[in-house]
Amino acid sequence: MIERRELFPNVIELNFQARRRLGCSIYLVYDGNDWLLIDIGYEDTVPEIIELIRQMDFPLAGCKYLVASHADVDHIQGFYKAKEFLPDAKVVGHPHTAELFRNKDRIMTFAEITAQDISIDLPDLKVDQEINEGDKLIVGSKELTVWHTPGHAHGQLSFRMGNLLFSGDNIFRDGCVGTIDAHHGSDIPDFIASLERIRDSDVEWLLPSHGPAFRNDKKLLQKTIDRLKGYLYMADFGTCAIDWPLLDEWEKEILEGTGPK
Ligand SMILES: [Zn+2]
Repeated sequence: MIERRELFPNVIELNFQARRRLGCSIYLVYDGNDWLLIDIGYEDTVPEIIELIRQMDFPLAGCKYLVASHADVDHIQGFYKAKEFLPDAKVVGHPHTAELFRNKDRIMTFAEITAQDISIDLPDLKVDQEINEGDKLIVGSKELTVWHTPGHAHGQLSFRMGNLLFSGDNIFRDGCVGTIDAHHGSDIPDFIASLERIRDSDVEWLLPSHGPAFRNDKKLLQKTIDRLKGYLYMADFGTCAIDWPLLDEWEKEILEGTGPK
């Protein structure tokens, strides 16, 4: 057995465990022989991940859930392969994630970004059990409460366990947020509401789906929220903005016949 490098009690993150960057964050939450994984990453790292889990002495039959934080290909592509090792584990995710899997939606999962020549295999995936706001995932005596935190993606979920929040692609340690892209179903007002909910909660630690875990620092959250509020009225994120005040100013100047000053 190799040493379990816990980030927090009962929480192992597999990039940290491997001392190697495998891809997105992959959280293993356990109690006794029961455990779950939040996200899995791309299919090519799955055998190494399963081997690591085996070496840490977790029984493969103890895996209750494979949790999709959302439907993006870099988080979920490997689920079909993980199921080969973990046939009893249920894939769980938001109803919107289930729909994207059913439709094999290559655009909203970021499997296909034609303009950047990105075309990634999106295997057949199925959500075995839909989960949503307020639902609980139980592993042993541990309980994860599901938060629906849309914004980056409509099906984005977060999971609260005590003072920890597995916070998905809502916010990262440098204050960046998950990609804002209309073709991905991103919604800035929803995003702001999700970030405000995290800011106002008494959660102490955020465990994001990319990069290191960090404190729920209200100032960092506020700075990010203010930036996103700005985007609502800026052309920068035009497909997701709600208004662009410059056009009103221009219209006024056209009507008045005001030229360059
Ligand atoms: Zn992501």
